Amino acid sequence: MNSDDEQKQISPSHLDRDDPSPSALPRRAELGDQTPRAFADASRDLSGSKLPYTFEGLDRDGLNRKDEATMAAALNDPAAVISPVWRRRVLMDADGEALLNWPKDRLTDQDTVIFLGVRDGTPFFAADISSQQNDSGEAPDLAGGAKGVFIDPWMTGPNLDPFRVGIGAYGRHLLAWHRSHRFCGRCGSHTELAKAGLERRCVSESCGEYLFPRINPATIMLVQDPSGEKCVMARNHNFPPTIHSVLAGYVDAGETLEQTVVREVEEEVGLSVKKVRYAASQPWAFSNSLMIGFFAWAEDTDLQVNLEELERADWYSRDEINNLRGSQDFRLPRKDSIARFLIETWLRSTPETL
Ligand SMILES: [Zn+2]
Repeated sequence: MNSDDEQKQISPSHLDRDDPSPSALPRRAELGDQTPRAFADASRDLSGSKLPYTFEGLDRDGLNRKDEATMAAALNDPAAVISPVWRRRVLMDADGEALLNWPKDRLTDQDTVIFLGVRDGTPFFAADISSQQNDSGEAPDLAGGAKGVFIDPWMTGPNLDPFRVGIGAYGRHLLAWHRSHRFCGRCGSHTELAKAGLERRCVSESCGEYLFPRINPATIMLVQDPSGEKCVMARNHNFPPTIHSVLAGYVDAGETLEQTVVREVEEEVGLSVKKVRYAASQPWAFSNSLMIGFFAWAEDTDLQVNLEELERADWYSRDEINNLRGSQDFRLPRKDSIARFLIETWLRSTPETL
């Protein structure tokens, strides 16, 4: 789910800007016998704000989202940012380089407006304006001759400011959930938006069910051989041509994250996992997922590739990946994905530093 054509990415340099170097990570000897090892140290350095879509500095409740008057005042703030979503697309400038805001006076009673949070005093909102359209039945035009185009943010994510595109994707995720949960699954009554968009509530007094946005947890794991010298790179049948990535799979009900990693690795490539270490997590709004990234170590190197799930999978050393990457037959996942983050982090590490 995290792959795309690397060649289409226009200016992804910002995605590499803050990546940690191996020298910044504590060495194994310095960490002693901590369990889980490096959770508070190395993994912290590997995670958090350095991944796109992680919303550094966004305070989701900074203005007290339960207070309707406060929310109305924030929406009227001239500095407020309103990200429009039209039929799952976000508004960008004609060059595809920036997300555009929607004028507040162009909102209608048909639009769903939700509060995303505050950053540096600026309130951010998302608005579902799907009911608006121009005379041709297409997306509404911006007023004043400004040129904008509605685009699926998945197509442009690697090229844009990580915070703004993250806001766009996050808003789209929540608004899609609101559209598909207008009725109560328990009693069938209407539901209404609550907590400025973080909940819905059934209007039936005898029911009053609360609904919360659905998030699909998925593990994603870079699997190494016992020595840590090689890792598994695979091609899923759904990947774009020549993209190679790490393994991933959704968490089943009743499973721990570690159990999902062990099960998925066994199912996809037939390896037994002897050790799992958390690396980082990333909201991936395009599939309503939370991606939870791990480094895993296999018991042995005997790959049994499940060809129903994968097109192929093989062991690769760091040198092999570095020599192959960018070639016509071997490209890495898109630069804004946690898959790419795990791979790049591993390439910069050694078996001693990871
Ligand atoms: Zn109900």
